[in-house]
Amino acid sequence: METTTHEFQAETKKLLNIVINSLYTERDIFVRELISNAADALEKFRHESITKTDVFDGHVPLEITIDVDEKKQTLTITDTGIGMTRDELEHNLGTIAHSGSNTFLSELVEAARKDISLIGQFGVGFYSAFMAGKEVRVQSRSWDGSEGHEWVSDGSGSFTITEMKGLHRGTKIIIALKDDAKEYAQKWKIESIIKQYSAFVSFPIKLEGEVVNTVQALWTRNRSEITEEEYTDFYKFIGNATTEAMYRLHFSADAPLAINALLFVPQENFEVLGFGRVEPGVNLYCQRILIDQHSENILPEWLRFLKGVVDSEDLPLNISRQALQDNALVAKLRKVITKRFLKYLDEEAKKDEEKYRKFWSTFGLYLKEGVTSDYEYQKELGKLLRFESSKSEDGKPVGLADYVLRMNPDQEEIYYINGPSRAAIEAGPYVEMFRKKDIEILYTLEPIDDFVLSHLAEFDGKKLVSADRADLSLVKDEEDARENEVGDDGDSLDKEGIDALLQWMKEELDAVVTDVVVSKRLVDAPAMIVNPDGFMTSSMERILAASRK
Ligand code: ADP
Ligand code: MG
Repeated sequence: METTTHEFQAETKKLLNIVINSLYTERDIFVRELISNAADALEKFRHESITKTDVFDGHVPLEITIDVDEKKQTLTITDTGIGMTRDELEHNLGTIAHSGSNTFLSELVEAARKDISLIGQFGVGFYSAFMAGKEVRVQSRSWDGSEGHEWVSDGSGSFTITEMKGLHRGTKIIIALKDDAKEYAQKWKIESIIKQYSAFVSFPIKLEGEVVNTVQALWTRNRSEITEEEYTDFYKFIGNATTEAMYRLHFSADAPLAINALLFVPQENFEVLGFGRVEPGVNLYCQRILIDQHSENILPEWLRFLKGVVDSEDLPLNISRQALQDNALVAKLRKVITKRFLKYLDEEAKKDEEKYRKFWSTFGLYLKEGVTSDYEYQKELGKLLRFESSKSEDGKPVGLADYVLRMNPDQEEIYYINGPSRAAIEAGPYVEMFRKKDIEILYTLEPIDDFVLSHLAEFDGKKLVSADRADLSLVKDEEDARENEVGDDGDSLDKEGIDALLQWMKEELDAVVTDVVVSKRLVDAPAMIVNPDGFMTSSMERILAASRK
C-alpha cells in the first residue's frame, strides 16, 4: 500500500525540539495530553452523533482504553471518538494549530526557562508524546467511515502516512518508549498519572480492562456531598493547575434559567507571568455534554482568568459554536452568571478583606478592564474596585463604599488624584486643601485608573471627580474663602500687582498653558497646574500622548 512521506512544518520542528530536549522533568504530562485529546475526540463525536444519524460504527461504546506492554516497552492509548481522515492526520499532526504559533513558541521557551512546572499551562499537546516515545504510531479512522490510515514518526523531521484496513472508528496511539522511559509501560505508573491528572474525564478510562476513573460530572452533584478534596482535584484537572484555587463559587439555579456553574479563581495571573493573553477557561455544557470548550461566549472577555464549567439544560444541544455567539439565551446566561460571580466577590471581600486584597492585586486589572469595556456591570464592578487613599494605610487600598461611609456630611463628590506614588502625591499641591479640610482623596497610582474612574463616572449617586480639575470648588463657606483670599495680609500684592503678575505669567507661559488665574485652593504651594476642561485628567492625556508616538 502506498506510503507518503511529509516534512513537519518549521514551527512544529522547533516545538518538537523543545519537547524532546527541555521538558524532560515534566514527562508525566504527555499521558495527560493524550488522554485529554482522546476525551476531546469523544466529546466531539458525542456532540455530532446527537444531530447526525449516519455515523460510522455508531454502536461502539464511547471510552478510552489504555494498554501497557512491559516486554515490548509500549504504551497504547485508544479512543472511540471522532477519529481523523487522511487529510486530518496530515494537517492536525504535522502543524501547530495554535494561531500565531511563533509567539506561542517564544512564550513557551520563555516560560520553560523561568519555571519548568508552568509548562503544563501551555498544553504542548500531541507532540508531548515524543517526550517519552522514540517512535509514535497513530492509527485512526474518521466517523465519516472513510478508509483508515496510520501515521508514523520518530519526531525528528518527518512522518509517513499509509492506508490501513479494518480499523474501528476512533484513534489508537502506540508509543514505543525510549529506554529511559520504561516506567510508562508499568500499570501502576499510568494509573497514578490518571489519578493525578485525569480523574474527571467524563468517559470511562480502562487501564488493562479495568475502569480507573470515576465518571461523574462534579458540578451537577449536591454541594453538601462534595468534599474539599474533590473540588480541589477537579480544579487541578480543569485548570491544569498544581495548587488549589484562590476562590471557588459553585451555584445552581432553576429559574429563570437552569444553571449549574462551578467557577474557580486561580492563585496566579498567567498573563503577567509572560504567557501572553490567556484563553477563556470556562467550558459550556448542556446536560453534561460539552458544547463549547474555552467558551468565548459564556462570560465577558475580562473574566477570561476564571476556570470552570457552566452547564445549562436550557441550551439546545445541537447549537453550533457560530450560533452561540449571538444566541439570546447565551447572552442571558452570561449576564446572570457574571452578576452572580461579582456578587460573590463582594461577599467574599466583606468576609475577608485581606484575602480580597490579594485577589485585587492579582486580578484587579481585569476588573478595571471590565469597567472600561462593559457598561452592563459597572454598578457591581464599582464596589469591587480598590484604591489607596489619604486615609488608607500604605499598601492597603480601600473600596469606594468605605470612602462613602467616611465622607464629610456636606461632601457631595468622591475625589481622586493620579500620581506615580503615595509620596509623590502627598508632596504635591493638589492635596493641600483636601488635607486642610480633612476630605479623603483617592490616590490613583496606575495610569489606567483615571480612565476607569472617568468611565465609572459615579458611585452610589456620588460623582467621581479628579482633583486636578480647574473648576473644583472645595472652598464653599465664606470664611474659608476669605482666609485663602489673596490680599488679606500685609505681604500680599494689591489688585494691580496681581493683574500685572498674571499678565506677565500668561505671556511667558503662552505656549504651554491656556490661562493663569488666582487660586483659592492652595495652602502652602505657590502654584499648581490644573486641567481646564475637566474632560480628561492629566494622566489620561499623558497616556494618549504616549500612544500617539
Ligand atoms: P489541541 O488538543 O490543543 O488542539 P493537540 O496538539 O493536542 O492540540 O492536538 C492537535 C490536533 O490533533 C487536535 O486539535 C485534534 O484535531 C487532533 N487530534 C489529536 N489527538 C486526537 C484524537 N485522539 N482523536 C482525534 N483527533 C485528535
Ligand atoms: Mg490536546
